[in-house]
Amino acid sequence: ARFATLLIVTGFLSTVGHLGAPAFGALDDDLLSLDVVSKIHTDRSLTARASSDFGHIVEATPDGVFHPVSPADIAALIRFSLYQQTPFTVAPRGKGHSSRGQALAPGGIVVDMPSLGRGDHGHRVNVSIDGMYVDVGGEQLWFDVLHATLKHGLTPRVWTDYLRITVGGTLSNAGIGGQVFRHGPQISNVHELDVVTGTGDMITCSPGNNSDLFYGALGGLGQFGVITRARVGLERAPKRVRWVRLAYTDVHQFTADQELLISRGAGFDYVEGQVQLNRTLTEGRRSSSFFSASELARLTELALGTGSAAVYYIEGAMYYGDRSAATVDRKLEALLEELSFVPGLAFVRDASYVQFLDRVGQEEQKLRAAGAWDVPHPWLNLFVPRSRIHDFAAGVFDGVLRGARPAGLILMYPMNRDRWDDRMTTATPDEDVFYAVGLLRSAVAAGDLERLERENEAVLELCDRAGMGCKQYLPHHASQDGWRRHFGAKWDRVAALKATYDPRAILSPGQGIFPAVV
Ligand code: FAD
Repeated sequence: ARFATLLIVTGFLSTVGHLGAPAFGALDDDLLSLDVVSKIHTDRSLTARASSDFGHIVEATPDGVFHPVSPADIAALIRFSLYQQTPFTVAPRGKGHSSRGQALAPGGIVVDMPSLGRGDHGHRVNVSIDGMYVDVGGEQLWFDVLHATLKHGLTPRVWTDYLRITVGGTLSNAGIGGQVFRHGPQISNVHELDVVTGTGDMITCSPGNNSDLFYGALGGLGQFGVITRARVGLERAPKRVRWVRLAYTDVHQFTADQELLISRGAGFDYVEGQVQLNRTLTEGRRSSSFFSASELARLTELALGTGSAAVYYIEGAMYYGDRSAATVDRKLEALLEELSFVPGLAFVRDASYVQFLDRVGQEEQKLRAAGAWDVPHPWLNLFVPRSRIHDFAAGVFDGVLRGARPAGLILMYPMNRDRWDDRMTTATPDEDVFYAVGLLRSAVAAGDLERLERENEAVLELCDRAGMGCKQYLPHHASQDGWRRHFGAKWDRVAALKATYDPRAILSPGQGIFPAVV
């Protein structure tokens, strides 16, 4: 009766319907306190906001949104769920920047992770200068981690292209960007984690301590626990960046140069690449944050004159700070001489380190102003083995997408597998070098979403049919069979970790990997 009263007091009526006899032992004192329940909010404005994500493709309403002030609150919420005969699901939500409902909890509780960092208890970024690491709350935005570490002249080594996403959200996937070829993904740069498991336990883990949970949670798609703290390695921060784009019309030269660049100890500090389908140049947006109008005109001319389906750019960055600009330019010039881009089509910019890292944040402002940010994003991200990247390019850029209407950005860049740790959960192809290919497209006009989804299906089918061994990144699979194939040899370990750390399968249900255990 006390229990029900608490729920009614806080308006948490919908869950009352789920309540039956306690499934587990006696409730802990903390569960009986009004505290946990009072942090669950059921007002429509909050549940509506937690019903969708950046993808705007799927929607699912939770029964409530939980605002924790501490990791212990999350542990209490989970134990509260397990106390029910039919536990409710619990989805930590960073910024909800997933594309396919991964952070949703239909009929369950969404944990609003940013609440951890609000108010008096809020400063959860602590730099150790001697240790060269930062202890950071799982809810923190990488943007804030950057600014906090720069105050000490230090910086994490690996960045996603966009910084307004959370530490826990990217570490649950991998966290990839142009520095991965040298330092591995963000998950390879973590020394220790605090995790609240699906059994409601708060566990500190590292390679030497509870290592199964440590390696499981990194890339674990939120399946084994909620990451509430990560210890991330740091290096000295550069001040400025020479930021370069090099244009190619031949995909073989483009990939050969990318692979040369990622094989070198010195050279660029960041290597990515883009594929610009010809139609996006000839008919797409007539402005760019990087290229001037006259540069765009030259690139359009190049696109019109080439027989290939796309223009390709290597994007590179060379950091400097202690070295002078003149020294960097000499180094850059020597490096460019080794590469085979279209003569005359090397574009060099200078930017501060922060401007460079926050480049997508600046683009976000423009897209928001144009009403083009809160639109459906049927993104498809793939890891493609090096041995099949030209088959992939021929089948996708010259095939499925040839003549496709402009709809966003395509990224394509290689990474070295030896910088990844196979004990972590993220699935990667089984080759020394593999490419990240991101079809980062937006559905702006009526009918775009259906068309883009059809194209995505065709790309996936092509990969399957040709046995390319591609793996989805930020994965989405509709069936458990799809997930088994996705994880491959890792599946048994994933299933065993789930049985240990979230046996009732309540965590991050939006991933759709494990059905809840009733
Ligand atoms: P959410 O979408 O809120 O959550 C993602 C998943 O993780 C959910 O299943 C959720 O339940 C779970 N989760 C969230 N927090 C935690 C936690 N603390 N502990 C355990 N599980 C948790 N990714 C890259 O790797 N590289 C990029 O360059 C890159 N660029 C991007 C650019 C844009 C514009 C956008 C929108 C996304 C980009 N991403 C990139 C993808 C991004 O890494 C994912 O969306 C990721 O999920 C982070 O978003 P989030 O913090 O909002 O997490």
